[in-house]
Amino acid sequence: MKAFIGVGSNIGEKIENCMKAISLLDSIEGCSVIKRSSFYKTEPVGYKDQDWFINCVVMIETELSPYELLEKLKEIELSMGREKGVRWGPRIIDLDILLYEDTVIDSDELTIPHLLMHKRRFVIVPLNEIAPDFIHPVLKKSIKELLKRIPEDGQEVALIKR
Ligand code: ADP
Ligand code: MG
Repeated sequence: MKAFIGVGSNIGEKIENCMKAISLLDSIEGCSVIKRSSFYKTEPVGYKDQDWFINCVVMIETELSPYELLEKLKEIELSMGREKGVRWGPRIIDLDILLYEDTVIDSDELTIPHLLMHKRRFVIVPLNEIAPDFIHPVLKKSIKELLKRIPEDGQEVALIKR
């Protein structure tokens, strides 16, 4: 199964934190990282009073179910020292399932596609780099089309490293 994972960090060595998380993701049994977007420097969204983020998106090929995958992502976050804090607040690493094939899930622990992905430039810009034609299974629009619909103003997203 093909899935897309959003990777973000805004504490410490942010790019290294993202790279570490991606290599841990790749080392999970039944999970391979196939593609990675560039790294982007992005402005915090939601809770503004915090440092800027590094974000990227990876495509994985996985045999894990969406819930099994979520468990593994949480394990990686914890193993890297993620602490519970403010929602949308500072974090050493954040791993979110953005899309999982054309699966739609809406439960207490898991929402796929990720609930706010289509409104966030820091998700759609890197995702558009690796999967512009992938169709959002709820909105029925390609990532390319979703990007056109997000206003340019506000959320700054700058490519910093390929
Ligand atoms: P956020 O990423 O929204 O800032 P957290 O990373 O703290 O917040 O995640 C809070 C909870 O969101 C997780 O414990 C998880 O159960 C839930 N969640 C719901 N949908 C998803 C998803 N698609 N990917 C990752 N976590 C999700
Ligand atoms: Mg998260």
